[in-house]
Amino acid sequence: MSTSTVIPHWLDGASFLGSAADGTTGRTGDVTNPATGGVTGQVAFADQADAERVIGAAAAAARSWAETSITKRTQVVFAFREILNARKEELAAIITSEHGKVLDDALGEVTRGLEVVEFACGIPHLLKGGYSEGVSSGVDVHSKRQPLGVVGIISPFNFPAMVPMWFFPVAIAAGNTVVLKPSEKDPSAAIWIAERWKDAGLPDGVFNVLQGDKVAVDALLDSPDVKAISFVGSTPIARYVYERASQSGKRVQALGGAKNHMVVLPDADLDLAADQAVSAGYGSAGERCMAISVVVAVGGVGDELVAKIADRTRTLRIGDGTKGTDMGPLVTQVHRDKVASFVDAGEEAGAKLVVDGREVDADGGADGFWLGPTLLDNVTPDMSVYTEEIFGPVLSVVRVDTYDEAVGLINANPYGNGVALFTSNGGAARKFEYEVEVGMIGINVPIPVPMAYYSFGGWKSSLFGDSHAHGTEGVHFFTRGKVVTSRWGDPAVKPVGGLELAFP
Ligand code: NAD
Repeated sequence: MSTSTVIPHWLDGASFLGSAADGTTGRTGDVTNPATGGVTGQVAFADQADAERVIGAAAAAARSWAETSITKRTQVVFAFREILNARKEELAAIITSEHGKVLDDALGEVTRGLEVVEFACGIPHLLKGGYSEGVSSGVDVHSKRQPLGVVGIISPFNFPAMVPMWFFPVAIAAGNTVVLKPSEKDPSAAIWIAERWKDAGLPDGVFNVLQGDKVAVDALLDSPDVKAISFVGSTPIARYVYERASQSGKRVQALGGAKNHMVVLPDADLDLAADQAVSAGYGSAGERCMAISVVVAVGGVGDELVAKIADRTRTLRIGDGTKGTDMGPLVTQVHRDKVASFVDAGEEAGAKLVVDGREVDADGGADGFWLGPTLLDNVTPDMSVYTEEIFGPVLSVVRVDTYDEAVGLINANPYGNGVALFTSNGGAARKFEYEVEVGMIGINVPIPVPMAYYSFGGWKSSLFGDSHAHGTEGVHFFTRGKVVTSRWGDPAVKPVGGLELAFP
């Protein structure tokens, strides 16, 4: 393959191949179209020197961007919003071609990312400090928040546009420069976004892209020039990133994996619950950190609920995401096979296979990474299909007798990203909200992704660090505070001096 088809890094406002320009020694990775199974390109894999070049560009631009007026910075973010909004279908098509999710869903992802850009347009208000006049005679106090410098964003394959957009609009608006390390499975969205930032007038060096694998990630984690890391991915890597980056003194937010439960109480509207379970379980082929993967049927609703979910599941059209289907392929063949092996294991462990997606007639390439929606009933908490994050179109139904058992199950789970309760009882909903140990809760809403002006993040093994993404927590993460205490006496009055060694 010629180097002209290699998906590059982005540095100083231009694409950069780095070591990948040498077809003999440079490392690259295959990028595939999951709906055909074909290799569509290769992505550059950074070596240490490439990483230093890209981080160096971000460091060189940091001071002047921080000193650019808030008004000017906001105008650039606003221009980026306008361009992205006008051309969002292009980005959605890129996402579908490398990730596999259907076009509507890809557009939904871009739209949710745009909302964070819109939130970041309000940065002048969010960066305002406090002021206290006259805390002592002639003494005033004010606070301010300043950018950190270079921040690193490391993102997963499942939202190649939205997850980076949870972070970089806020980071850039607040005056930081960014190095984004996208997933090597779908790296093109990041380069398209970099081009749009350039169109919007962002100075070179403020937004940079470093492509690659662990080498690129470790370079970001260890670089003394990088002051903060925002990571999203699986729990083992999130833990690793948190520990390693913290060791070099960085602030870190590392969002990990999930196992999201949907509790259905006996008083719930079962048609609504079944619709939502299917949409939230199989949308994006279950490759969402907020996907529902476990339905907890409480107190006798199991048979009717499973029948309703199964009926709806059988109507889904599986195929190439550009053909108006409901659900696309999985991201790679390896991942497809891993998900299928969980279905095998669940069946062997005694779960009842109600809908089997392992044999599927997909409207797409014969070599596409297809796995149909799968429904398993009578799953128990000791089965691997329950204990592991599957990250595929597999919905497990666990049956329990009481509300308390349902909450006990969720609170005992190591993950705590999202959860949903379906009920018509406001008191039960209120109790659930209070006692469930999960970061994002939906009441009759299956995927409770917070709006951009709230913050996104889970509890327990779903997030390492203490700052969630975007909203005011995002603004705090990407800035650090200063408090200034100043004394200015009345020029007409001679100041009272004298020594005083006691603590003031
Ligand atoms: P992943 O952990 O494999 O990869 C995430 C990032 O880490 C990628 O950029 C990848 O290149 C890098 N990486 C992978 N292995 C590494 C290693 N050994 N050392 C250093 N870096 C490494 O995750 P993925 O498969 O791309 O994404 C799916 C996972 O992300 C799921 O577990 C999902 O739940 C999670 N996720 C979580 C959230 C959330 O908000 N909590 C959101 C989206 C996805």
